[in-house]
Amino acid sequence: MEKLVIIGNGPAGSTAAIYAARAGLKPLVFAGNTPGGLLTQTSDVENFPGFPDGVGGFDLVMNMQFQAEKFGAYFEYEEITAVKIVSGGPHILTVSDGRIIETQALIIAAGAVPKRLEVPGEDRLYGNGVSACATCDGAFYKDVPVAVAGGGDSAMEEALFLTRFASEVHLIHRRDQLRASLIMAERAKKHPKIKFHLNCLITEIVGDKKVSGIRFLDRESNKETLLPCSAVFTALGHTPCSKLFRDAGVETDISGFIVVKNNTSLTNIPGVFAAGDCADPAYRQAIIAAGMGARAAMDAEKFLADAE
Ligand code: NDP
Repeated sequence: MEKLVIIGNGPAGSTAAIYAARAGLKPLVFAGNTPGGLLTQTSDVENFPGFPDGVGGFDLVMNMQFQAEKFGAYFEYEEITAVKIVSGGPHILTVSDGRIIETQALIIAAGAVPKRLEVPGEDRLYGNGVSACATCDGAFYKDVPVAVAGGGDSAMEEALFLTRFASEVHLIHRRDQLRASLIMAERAKKHPKIKFHLNCLITEIVGDKKVSGIRFLDRESNKETLLPCSAVFTALGHTPCSKLFRDAGVETDISGFIVVKNNTSLTNIPGVFAAGDCADPAYRQAIIAAGMGARAAMDAEKFLADAE
């Protein structure tokens, strides 16, 4: 039986693994089918403390993994396909290769995936102008036009943030009504650099190796426009990777984010902890996920010590 299994090896899972391994818990980490999480899909990370010249997203998560392995964590590139929460533990996990694993404690750090437009060009140009994080990638687009897709608070926030760098920000929303709160919408509408294109559907992201523009359809006039821009930031909401755990009895909010008790990583199930984007409806930043991972490892360590 395992003492501690960690699901996910993004910044939350890998940081949890560093802390748990240093505490002698020999955690077993399942990296799943997107090893390293979303960070591996961004190019340079410039806002992670300690790297004044920036660091590649992939390098950052791999270094976290190496650091955890150095202290005795064990990483497997398999997925967990089923979870059975057993009152009082151990909890039972099914691995994609068919193995059944029992664990006393579980840290869920399975991440969240940004919703996609699902239009031609989006997947191909992801990381080369298509991004789901203006905070991460906005500064790369100075004095050039960019576009933001979405009509919620995130889209307003991303658009406003991008005005610091871009020459103009085109906000493309599929309906004629914004979903964003009035105050955020008003702030964006007042900004001279932000141009609204409401009731417009993005139909294609254009570019050879980098984004050079987007094609969108005005649903009222049926007119198609090719808008030159250097980047497209999607702000369509996130889907937390929590279904497996929710189905097993772990509490989530209405959007699927795992609910943790105030300032801890404790879920509604004793011995089951959550960290990172799957439990973070608000921030979704690597540094915050890393901090949540450290917290989850410390909570798990205490739980295991108390259980002895
Ligand atoms: P939301 O779900 O609120 O908004 C997503 C937006 O994307 C909607 O306008 C939606 O359109 C659009 N969208 C979704 N899928 C597609 C698609 N396939 N094609 C085109 N458009 C699409 O997500 P947010 O991330 O904006 O916000 C999540 C939560 O976080 C909210 O509760 C929000 O209030 C909160 N938040 C708060 C902030 C703050 O207070 N500062 C900042 C950021 C977020 P449609 O409207 O037609 O459904």
